Amino acid sequence: MAEQSCIIVGAGPAGLAAAIAVARGGRGVVVLEKNARPGRKLLLAGGGRANLTDPDLPSLDAAEAYGRSGRFLHQALASFSLAEFLKELGVGTEREEGGPRGESVFVRGGSRRLLDALLAGAERSGVEVVCGAAVRAAARLGGGGFEVRTSRRVWKCGRLIVAAGGMTYPSTGSCGDGYRLAGIFGHEVEAPRPALGALATEPCFPDIAGVSAADALITLRRGGRKLAARRGALLFTHRGVSGPPALDLSLEMARAAPPDDAADMRLVADLSPDLTRERIVDEFLAAAKSRPKRRLENADWCAALPARLTAELAGRAGIPAARRIGQISRREFIALAGNIKSLAMTVVAPPDVNDAMVTLGGVAAKGLDPYTMESRTVPGLRFAGELLAPAGPCGGYNLLMAFATGRAAGKSL
Ligand SMILES: Cc1cc2nc3c(=O)[nH]c(=O)nc-3n(C[C@H](O)[C@H](O)[C@H](O)COP(=O)(O)OP(=O)(O)OC[C@H]3O[C@@H](n4cnc5c(N)ncnc54)[C@H](O)[C@@H]3O)c2cc1C
Repeated sequence: MAEQSCIIVGAGPAGLAAAIAVARGGRGVVVLEKNARPGRKLLLAGGGRANLTDPDLPSLDAAEAYGRSGRFLHQALASFSLAEFLKELGVGTEREEGGPRGESVFVRGGSRRLLDALLAGAERSGVEVVCGAAVRAAARLGGGGFEVRTSRRVWKCGRLIVAAGGMTYPSTGSCGDGYRLAGIFGHEVEAPRPALGALATEPCFPDIAGVSAADALITLRRGGRKLAARRGALLFTHRGVSGPPALDLSLEMARAAPPDDAADMRLVADLSPDLTRERIVDEFLAAAKSRPKRRLENADWCAALPARLTAELAGRAGIPAARRIGQISRREFIALAGNIKSLAMTVVAPPDVNDAMVTLGGVAAKGLDPYTMESRTVPGLRFAGELLAPAGPCGGYNLLMAFATGRAAGKSL
Protein backbone atom coordinates (compact mmCIF):
# COMPACT_ATOMS: atom_id res chain seq x y z
CA MET A 1 0.00 0.00 0.00
CA ALA A 2 2.12 2.90 -1.34
CA GLU A 3 1.61 6.23 0.42
CA GLN A 4 0.86 9.33 -1.64
CA SER A 5 1.35 12.86 -0.51
CA CYS A 6 -2.07 13.91 -1.80
CA ILE A 7 -5.06 12.14 -3.33
CA ILE A 8 -7.82 13.96 -5.14
CA VAL A 9 -11.18 12.33 -5.75
CA GLY A 10 -12.62 13.36 -9.13
CA ALA A 11 -10.96 14.49 -12.37
CA GLY A 12 -13.40 17.27 -13.26
CA PRO A 13 -12.44 20.95 -13.54
CA ALA A 14 -12.17 21.38 -9.75
CA GLY A 15 -10.10 18.23 -9.20
CA LEU A 16 -7.75 18.98 -12.10
CA ALA A 17 -7.30 22.64 -11.08
CA ALA A 18 -6.51 21.47 -7.56
CA ALA A 19 -4.09 18.79 -8.80
CA ILE A 20 -2.10 21.25 -10.92
CA ALA A 21 -1.80 23.61 -7.95
CA VAL A 22 -0.72 20.82 -5.58
CA ALA A 23 1.91 19.54 -8.03
CA ARG A 24 3.26 23.03 -8.69
CA GLY A 25 3.71 23.37 -4.94
CA GLY A 26 6.09 20.41 -5.14
CA ARG A 27 3.92 17.62 -3.76
CA GLY A 28 3.16 14.33 -5.43
CA VAL A 29 -0.51 14.00 -6.31
CA VAL A 30 -2.75 11.25 -7.65
CA VAL A 31 -6.24 11.98 -9.01
CA LEU A 32 -8.70 9.08 -8.78
CA GLU A 33 -11.48 9.22 -11.36
CA LYS A 34 -14.29 6.68 -11.49
CA ASN A 35 -14.97 7.02 -15.22
CA ALA A 36 -12.81 5.55 -17.94
CA ARG A 37 -12.06 9.15 -19.02
CA PRO A 38 -11.83 12.40 -17.06
CA GLY A 39 -14.01 15.51 -17.38
CA ARG A 40 -17.24 14.12 -18.80
CA LYS A 41 -19.36 16.90 -17.36
CA LEU A 42 -16.93 19.54 -18.56
CA LEU A 43 -17.23 18.20 -22.10
CA LEU A 44 -20.97 19.04 -22.01
CA ALA A 45 -20.43 22.59 -20.76
CA GLY A 46 -21.96 25.32 -22.88
CA GLY A 47 -23.17 22.79 -25.44
CA GLY A 48 -19.53 21.72 -25.93
CA ARG A 49 -18.27 25.32 -26.10
CA ALA A 50 -17.67 25.94 -22.36
CA ASN A 51 -19.28 29.22 -21.38
CA LEU A 52 -17.01 31.22 -19.06
CA THR A 53 -17.38 34.40 -17.03
CA ASP A 54 -15.55 37.39 -18.47
CA PRO A 55 -11.85 36.71 -17.81
CA ASP A 56 -11.08 40.45 -18.06
CA LEU A 57 -13.12 41.17 -14.94
CA PRO A 58 -11.94 40.42 -11.40
CA SER A 59 -13.37 37.05 -10.32
CA LEU A 60 -14.66 38.68 -7.15
CA ASP A 61 -17.12 40.68 -9.29
CA ALA A 62 -18.94 37.38 -9.82
CA ALA A 63 -19.52 36.80 -6.10
CA GLU A 64 -23.05 38.19 -6.00
CA ALA A 65 -24.22 35.72 -8.63
CA TYR A 66 -23.91 32.87 -6.12
CA GLY A 67 -26.60 34.37 -3.87
CA ARG A 68 -26.35 34.41 -0.11
CA SER A 69 -24.24 31.26 0.16
CA GLY A 70 -21.72 32.90 -2.18
CA ARG A 71 -20.23 34.89 0.68
CA PHE A 72 -18.19 31.82 1.49
CA LEU A 73 -16.55 32.04 -1.96
CA HIS A 74 -15.21 35.59 -1.54
CA GLN A 75 -11.68 34.62 -0.51
CA ALA A 76 -11.29 31.93 -3.18
CA LEU A 77 -12.59 34.30 -5.87
CA ALA A 78 -10.52 37.25 -4.67
CA SER A 79 -7.31 35.25 -5.03
CA PHE A 80 -8.19 33.71 -8.39
CA SER A 81 -7.64 35.26 -11.81
CA LEU A 82 -9.47 33.43 -14.59
CA ALA A 83 -7.39 35.29 -17.20
CA GLU A 84 -4.12 34.10 -15.65
CA PHE A 85 -5.43 30.59 -15.18
CA LEU A 86 -6.39 30.33 -18.85
CA LYS A 87 -3.09 31.89 -19.90
CA GLU A 88 -1.15 29.32 -17.89
CA LEU A 89 -3.12 26.60 -19.63
CA GLY A 90 -2.64 28.21 -23.04
CA VAL A 91 -6.40 28.48 -23.58
CA GLY A 92 -7.96 31.35 -25.56
CA THR A 93 -11.50 32.68 -25.46
CA GLU A 94 -13.95 34.19 -27.92
CA ARG A 95 -16.79 36.60 -27.30
CA GLU A 96 -20.23 36.53 -28.75
CA GLU A 97 -23.13 38.92 -28.50
CA GLY A 98 -26.16 37.61 -26.67
CA GLY A 99 -26.76 35.58 -23.53
CA PRO A 100 -28.20 36.74 -20.23
CA ARG A 101 -25.50 39.40 -19.75
CA GLY A 102 -25.46 40.83 -23.24
CA GLU A 103 -22.17 39.20 -24.18
CA SER A 104 -21.04 35.61 -23.69
CA VAL A 105 -17.50 34.25 -23.44
CA PHE A 106 -16.64 30.78 -24.72
CA VAL A 107 -13.43 28.77 -24.84
CA ARG A 108 -11.80 28.94 -28.26
CA GLY A 109 -11.82 25.32 -29.36
CA GLY A 110 -14.59 24.48 -26.89
CA SER A 111 -14.81 22.25 -23.83
CA ARG A 112 -12.60 19.62 -25.46
CA ARG A 113 -9.78 22.16 -25.76
CA LEU A 114 -10.22 23.23 -22.13
CA LEU A 115 -10.19 19.65 -20.88
CA ASP A 116 -7.15 18.75 -23.00
CA ALA A 117 -5.32 21.82 -21.68
CA LEU A 118 -6.15 20.88 -18.07
CA LEU A 119 -4.92 17.33 -18.63
CA ALA A 120 -1.77 18.53 -20.40
CA GLY A 121 -1.14 21.02 -17.56
CA ALA A 122 -1.59 18.21 -15.05
CA GLU A 123 0.76 15.91 -16.92
CA ARG A 124 3.43 18.64 -17.28
CA SER A 125 3.29 19.26 -13.54
CA GLY A 126 3.70 15.56 -12.77
CA VAL A 127 0.12 14.77 -11.73
CA GLU A 128 -0.93 11.13 -12.07
CA VAL A 129 -4.55 10.65 -13.17
CA VAL A 130 -5.90 7.15 -12.54
CA CYS A 131 -9.17 6.43 -14.35
CA GLY A 132 -11.61 3.62 -13.63
CA ALA A 133 -10.94 4.16 -9.91
CA ALA A 134 -14.25 4.72 -8.13
CA VAL A 135 -13.66 5.76 -4.55
CA ARG A 136 -16.04 3.80 -2.35
CA ALA A 137 -14.88 4.78 1.13
CA ALA A 138 -12.33 6.86 2.99
CA ALA A 139 -11.20 7.02 6.60
CA ARG A 140 -8.74 8.83 8.84
CA LEU A 141 -5.69 6.90 9.91
CA GLY A 142 -4.66 6.82 13.55
CA GLY A 143 -1.26 8.43 13.00
CA GLY A 144 -2.61 11.10 10.62
CA GLY A 145 -3.47 10.94 6.96
CA PHE A 146 -6.15 8.98 5.18
CA GLU A 147 -7.00 5.62 3.74
CA VAL A 148 -8.95 5.72 0.46
CA ARG A 149 -10.66 2.61 -0.91
CA THR A 150 -11.47 2.07 -4.56
CA SER A 151 -12.96 -1.03 -6.09
CA ARG A 152 -9.44 -2.22 -6.99
CA ARG A 153 -7.14 -1.20 -4.19
CA VAL A 154 -6.51 0.76 -1.03
CA TRP A 155 -4.53 4.00 -1.16
CA LYS A 156 -2.91 5.92 1.69
CA CYS A 157 -2.28 9.65 1.60
CA GLY A 158 -1.30 12.56 3.78
CA ARG A 159 -3.88 14.98 2.32
CA LEU A 160 -7.20 14.32 0.70
CA ILE A 161 -9.17 16.66 -1.60
CA VAL A 162 -12.70 15.58 -2.48
CA ALA A 163 -13.85 17.13 -5.78
CA ALA A 164 -16.40 14.54 -6.83
CA GLY A 165 -18.98 17.01 -8.22
CA GLY A 166 -22.67 17.31 -7.43
CA MET A 167 -25.50 14.88 -8.10
CA THR A 168 -27.09 16.18 -11.29
CA TYR A 169 -26.44 14.73 -14.74
CA PRO A 170 -25.42 11.48 -12.98
CA SER A 171 -24.57 9.97 -16.37
CA THR A 172 -21.37 12.06 -16.21
CA GLY A 173 -20.20 10.23 -13.07
CA SER A 174 -21.22 13.01 -10.68
CA CYS A 175 -23.95 11.27 -8.76
CA GLY A 176 -23.56 12.40 -5.18
CA ASP A 177 -20.65 10.21 -4.01
CA GLY A 178 -18.91 13.31 -2.65
CA TYR A 179 -21.75 13.97 -0.20
CA ARG A 180 -21.39 10.44 1.15
CA LEU A 181 -17.64 10.92 1.61
CA ALA A 182 -18.23 14.27 3.36
CA GLY A 183 -20.74 12.54 5.63
CA ILE A 184 -18.18 9.87 6.58
CA PHE A 185 -16.00 12.66 7.97
CA GLY A 186 -18.88 14.20 9.88
CA HIS A 187 -19.41 17.17 7.55
CA GLU A 188 -22.82 18.75 7.29
CA VAL A 189 -24.27 18.48 3.79
CA GLU A 190 -27.00 20.99 2.92
CA ALA A 191 -29.80 19.19 1.09
CA PRO A 192 -28.64 18.95 -2.56
CA ARG A 193 -31.19 19.98 -5.18
CA PRO A 194 -31.08 20.19 -8.97
CA ALA A 195 -30.74 23.65 -10.52
CA LEU A 196 -30.21 25.13 -13.98
CA GLY A 197 -32.71 22.68 -15.42
CA ALA A 198 -35.72 22.90 -17.73
CA LEU A 199 -38.98 23.52 -15.89
CA ALA A 200 -42.07 21.36 -16.24
CA THR A 201 -45.08 23.66 -16.36
CA GLU A 202 -48.83 23.63 -16.74
CA PRO A 203 -49.65 24.46 -19.48
CA CYS A 204 -46.82 22.71 -21.32
CA PHE A 205 -46.10 23.12 -25.02
CA PRO A 206 -45.91 19.84 -26.99
CA ASP A 207 -47.16 21.48 -30.22
CA ILE A 208 -44.44 24.13 -30.29
CA ALA A 209 -41.59 22.17 -28.68
CA GLY A 210 -38.33 23.61 -29.99
CA VAL A 211 -39.77 27.07 -30.76
CA SER A 212 -38.18 30.06 -28.95
CA ALA A 213 -39.24 33.58 -28.08
CA ALA A 214 -35.96 35.42 -28.72
CA ASP A 215 -36.39 38.09 -26.07
CA ALA A 216 -38.72 37.28 -23.20
CA LEU A 217 -38.98 38.64 -19.68
CA ILE A 218 -39.89 35.87 -17.24
CA THR A 219 -40.96 36.50 -13.68
CA LEU A 220 -40.94 33.82 -10.99
CA ARG A 221 -43.61 34.26 -8.36
CA ARG A 222 -44.54 32.33 -5.26
CA GLY A 223 -47.94 33.07 -3.81
CA GLY A 224 -48.34 36.77 -4.45
CA ARG A 225 -44.61 37.48 -4.15
CA LYS A 226 -42.18 38.16 -6.97
CA LEU A 227 -39.01 36.12 -6.34
CA ALA A 228 -36.92 37.00 -9.39
CA ALA A 229 -37.08 37.98 -13.06
CA ARG A 230 -34.79 37.11 -15.99
CA ARG A 231 -34.73 38.21 -19.62
CA GLY A 232 -33.52 36.21 -22.61
CA ALA A 233 -34.42 33.54 -25.15
CA LEU A 234 -37.24 31.34 -23.80
CA LEU A 235 -37.48 27.87 -25.31
CA PHE A 236 -40.80 26.02 -25.29
CA THR A 237 -40.62 22.27 -24.66
CA HIS A 238 -42.89 19.22 -24.48
CA ARG A 239 -42.93 19.52 -20.69
CA GLY A 240 -42.71 23.28 -20.20
CA VAL A 241 -39.95 25.83 -20.76
CA SER A 242 -36.17 26.01 -20.97
CA GLY A 243 -33.51 28.43 -22.26
CA PRO A 244 -31.27 30.70 -20.15
CA PRO A 245 -33.98 32.68 -18.31
CA ALA A 246 -35.90 29.52 -17.35
CA LEU A 247 -32.69 27.77 -16.28
CA ASP A 248 -31.65 30.71 -14.13
CA LEU A 249 -35.10 30.89 -12.56
CA SER A 250 -34.88 27.18 -11.72
CA LEU A 251 -31.84 28.14 -9.60
CA GLU A 252 -33.81 30.94 -7.93
CA MET A 253 -36.61 28.44 -7.31
CA ALA A 254 -34.18 26.00 -5.68
CA ARG A 255 -32.79 28.84 -3.56
CA ALA A 256 -36.26 29.85 -2.41
CA ALA A 257 -37.85 26.47 -1.75
CA PRO A 258 -36.96 23.34 0.19
CA PRO A 259 -35.81 20.42 -2.00
CA ASP A 260 -38.52 18.74 -4.08
CA ASP A 261 -40.94 21.54 -3.40
CA ALA A 262 -42.28 23.39 -6.42
CA ALA A 263 -45.55 24.18 -4.68
CA ASP A 264 -47.11 27.49 -5.57
CA MET A 265 -44.31 28.48 -7.99
CA ARG A 266 -45.58 30.35 -11.01
CA LEU A 267 -43.92 31.84 -14.08
CA VAL A 268 -45.31 34.80 -15.97
CA ALA A 269 -43.72 35.39 -19.37
CA ASP A 270 -43.82 38.68 -21.23
CA LEU A 271 -42.88 37.50 -24.72
CA SER A 272 -42.51 40.99 -26.15
CA PRO A 273 -41.18 43.19 -23.35
CA ASP A 274 -40.39 46.20 -25.55
CA LEU A 275 -43.97 46.58 -26.86
CA THR A 276 -47.01 47.55 -24.81
CA ARG A 277 -50.19 45.51 -25.10
CA GLU A 278 -51.85 48.44 -26.87
CA ARG A 279 -49.03 48.69 -29.38
CA ILE A 280 -49.29 44.96 -30.15
CA VAL A 281 -53.05 45.29 -30.68
CA ASP A 282 -52.45 48.28 -32.98
CA GLU A 283 -49.94 46.22 -34.99
CA PHE A 284 -52.47 43.40 -35.32
CA LEU A 285 -55.20 45.78 -36.44
CA ALA A 286 -52.93 47.47 -38.99
CA ALA A 287 -51.92 44.10 -40.42
CA ALA A 288 -55.54 42.93 -40.50
CA LYS A 289 -56.38 46.01 -42.51
CA SER A 290 -53.50 45.79 -44.98
CA ARG A 291 -53.47 42.00 -45.49
CA PRO A 292 -56.89 40.75 -44.36
CA LYS A 293 -56.70 37.46 -46.27
CA ARG A 294 -53.52 36.33 -44.58
CA ARG A 295 -54.02 33.48 -42.16
CA LEU A 296 -52.99 33.87 -38.53
CA GLU A 297 -50.79 30.76 -38.71
CA ASN A 298 -48.57 32.66 -41.19
CA ALA A 299 -48.40 35.72 -38.96
CA ASP A 300 -44.68 35.94 -38.35
CA TRP A 301 -44.95 39.74 -38.34
CA CYS A 302 -46.43 39.83 -34.87
CA ALA A 303 -44.35 41.29 -32.02
CA ALA A 304 -41.24 39.65 -33.51
CA LEU A 305 -42.55 36.23 -32.46
CA PRO A 306 -42.35 33.07 -34.59
CA ALA A 307 -45.65 32.39 -36.39
CA ARG A 308 -46.06 29.00 -34.70
CA LEU A 309 -45.84 30.62 -31.29
CA THR A 310 -48.35 33.33 -32.23
CA ALA A 311 -50.70 30.63 -33.53
CA GLU A 312 -50.35 28.63 -30.30
CA LEU A 313 -51.09 31.70 -28.18
CA ALA A 314 -54.03 32.56 -30.43
CA GLY A 315 -55.39 29.04 -29.96
CA ARG A 316 -55.18 29.56 -26.19
CA ALA A 317 -57.23 32.77 -26.69
CA GLY A 318 -59.85 30.77 -28.64
CA ILE A 319 -58.80 31.99 -32.11
CA PRO A 320 -58.27 29.17 -34.66
CA ALA A 321 -54.82 29.42 -36.27
CA ALA A 322 -56.32 29.00 -39.76
CA ARG A 323 -58.55 32.09 -39.33
CA ARG A 324 -57.87 34.95 -41.79
CA ILE A 325 -56.61 37.93 -39.84
CA GLY A 326 -59.18 40.24 -41.42
CA GLN A 327 -61.84 38.15 -39.65
CA ILE A 328 -60.37 38.52 -36.19
CA SER A 329 -62.14 41.01 -33.93
CA ARG A 330 -60.47 43.72 -31.85
CA ARG A 331 -61.56 41.91 -28.69
CA GLU A 332 -59.88 38.71 -29.92
CA PHE A 333 -56.69 40.62 -30.74
CA ILE A 334 -56.74 42.08 -27.21
CA ALA A 335 -56.99 38.55 -25.78
CA LEU A 336 -54.09 37.38 -27.98
CA ALA A 337 -51.96 40.38 -26.97
CA GLY A 338 -52.79 39.52 -23.37
CA ASN A 339 -51.31 36.05 -23.85
CA ILE A 340 -48.21 37.55 -25.47
CA LYS A 341 -47.66 40.04 -22.64
CA SER A 342 -48.60 37.78 -19.78
CA LEU A 343 -48.39 34.04 -20.39
CA ALA A 344 -48.95 32.43 -17.01
CA MET A 345 -47.59 29.00 -16.17
CA THR A 346 -47.62 26.92 -13.00
CA VAL A 347 -44.39 25.06 -12.25
CA VAL A 348 -45.41 21.46 -11.64
CA ALA A 349 -42.06 19.95 -10.56
CA PRO A 350 -38.52 20.94 -9.65
CA PRO A 351 -35.93 20.43 -12.40
CA ASP A 352 -35.11 16.83 -13.28
CA VAL A 353 -31.95 15.57 -11.59
CA ASN A 354 -30.98 13.77 -14.81
CA ASP A 355 -30.70 16.89 -16.93
CA ALA A 356 -30.26 19.81 -14.55
CA MET A 357 -26.78 21.23 -15.04
CA VAL A 358 -25.73 21.83 -11.45
CA THR A 359 -26.54 21.04 -7.85
CA LEU A 360 -27.42 23.69 -5.29
CA GLY A 361 -26.62 22.54 -1.75
CA GLY A 362 -23.78 20.28 -0.72
CA VAL A 363 -20.90 20.48 1.74
CA ALA A 364 -21.84 23.30 4.11
CA ALA A 365 -19.60 26.35 4.15
CA LYS A 366 -19.52 26.65 7.91
CA GLY A 367 -17.41 23.47 8.24
CA LEU A 368 -14.68 24.80 5.91
CA ASP A 369 -11.94 27.43 5.92
CA PRO A 370 -12.85 29.80 3.05
CA TYR A 371 -9.19 30.50 2.20
CA THR A 372 -8.07 26.88 1.88
CA MET A 373 -11.31 24.85 1.60
CA GLU A 374 -9.88 22.77 4.45
CA SER A 375 -12.17 21.04 6.90
CA ARG A 376 -12.35 22.82 10.25
CA THR A 377 -12.67 19.46 12.00
CA VAL A 378 -10.50 17.05 9.97
CA PRO A 379 -7.01 18.46 9.28
CA GLY A 380 -5.72 17.59 5.82
CA LEU A 381 -9.18 17.11 4.30
CA ARG A 382 -10.40 19.60 1.68
CA PHE A 383 -13.43 19.95 -0.60
CA ALA A 384 -13.76 21.77 -3.92
CA GLY A 385 -16.08 22.42 -6.85
CA GLU A 386 -19.74 21.75 -7.37
CA LEU A 387 -19.73 19.50 -4.30
CA LEU A 388 -19.78 22.69 -2.19
CA ALA A 389 -23.11 24.23 -1.22
CA PRO A 390 -23.22 27.33 -3.51
CA ALA A 391 -24.19 27.22 -7.17
CA GLY A 392 -24.17 29.95 -9.79
CA PRO A 393 -26.41 30.89 -12.73
CA CYS A 394 -25.76 30.34 -16.44
CA GLY A 395 -22.84 32.32 -17.81
CA GLY A 396 -19.74 30.45 -16.64
CA TYR A 397 -20.17 30.87 -12.88
CA ASN A 398 -20.05 27.17 -12.10
CA LEU A 399 -16.77 26.56 -13.88
CA LEU A 400 -15.41 29.68 -12.19
CA MET A 401 -16.37 28.27 -8.81
CA ALA A 402 -14.84 24.87 -9.68
CA PHE A 403 -11.55 26.45 -10.78
CA ALA A 404 -11.32 29.00 -7.96
CA THR A 405 -12.10 26.55 -5.14
CA GLY A 406 -9.97 23.81 -6.72
CA ARG A 407 -7.06 26.21 -7.01
CA ALA A 408 -7.56 27.44 -3.40
CA ALA A 409 -7.63 23.87 -2.06
CA GLY A 410 -4.58 22.75 -4.04
CA LYS A 411 -2.47 25.84 -3.54
CA SER A 412 -2.82 25.78 0.22
CA LEU A 413 -1.12 22.38 0.60
C1 LIG B 1 -25.07 20.15 -19.85
C2 LIG B 1 -24.21 21.01 -18.95
C3 LIG B 1 -23.75 22.22 -19.41
C4 LIG B 1 -22.97 23.04 -18.57
N1 LIG B 1 -22.48 24.20 -19.08
C5 LIG B 1 -21.70 24.98 -18.30
C6 LIG B 1 -21.09 26.15 -18.84
O1 LIG B 1 -21.15 26.42 -20.04
N2 LIG B 1 -20.37 26.94 -17.98
C7 LIG B 1 -20.22 26.64 -16.63
O2 LIG B 1 -19.60 27.41 -15.91
N3 LIG B 1 -20.74 25.49 -16.12
C8 LIG B 1 -21.45 24.65 -16.92
N4 LIG B 1 -21.95 23.49 -16.42
C9 LIG B 1 -21.63 23.12 -15.02
C10 LIG B 1 -20.19 22.64 -14.88
O3 LIG B 1 -19.88 21.71 -15.90
C11 LIG B 1 -19.97 21.98 -13.52
O4 LIG B 1 -20.39 22.85 -12.50
C12 LIG B 1 -18.51 21.60 -13.31
O5 LIG B 1 -18.15 20.56 -14.21
C13 LIG B 1 -18.25 21.14 -11.89
O6 LIG B 1 -16.92 20.76 -11.79
P1 LIG B 1 -16.46 19.73 -10.64
O7 LIG B 1 -15.06 19.38 -10.95
O8 LIG B 1 -16.79 20.27 -9.32
O9 LIG B 1 -17.40 18.46 -10.83
P2 LIG B 1 -17.54 17.48 -12.08
O10 LIG B 1 -17.25 18.18 -13.34
O11 LIG B 1 -18.87 16.87 -11.91
O12 LIG B 1 -16.38 16.42 -11.85
C14 LIG B 1 -16.42 15.51 -10.78
C15 LIG B 1 -15.68 14.25 -11.18
O13 LIG B 1 -15.63 13.38 -10.05
C16 LIG B 1 -15.83 12.05 -10.51
N5 LIG B 1 -16.32 11.23 -9.40
C17 LIG B 1 -17.53 11.30 -8.80
N6 LIG B 1 -17.60 10.38 -7.82
C18 LIG B 1 -16.41 9.73 -7.79
C19 LIG B 1 -15.89 8.66 -7.02
N7 LIG B 1 -16.61 8.07 -6.05
N8 LIG B 1 -14.63 8.24 -7.27
C20 LIG B 1 -13.88 8.80 -8.25
N9 LIG B 1 -14.34 9.81 -9.03
C21 LIG B 1 -15.58 10.27 -8.79
C22 LIG B 1 -16.85 12.20 -11.62
O14 LIG B 1 -16.85 11.09 -12.48
C23 LIG B 1 -16.37 13.48 -12.31
O15 LIG B 1 -15.47 13.22 -13.33
C24 LIG B 1 -22.68 22.64 -17.24
C25 LIG B 1 -23.15 21.40 -16.79
C26 LIG B 1 -23.89 20.59 -17.64
C27 LIG B 1 -24.35 19.25 -17.13
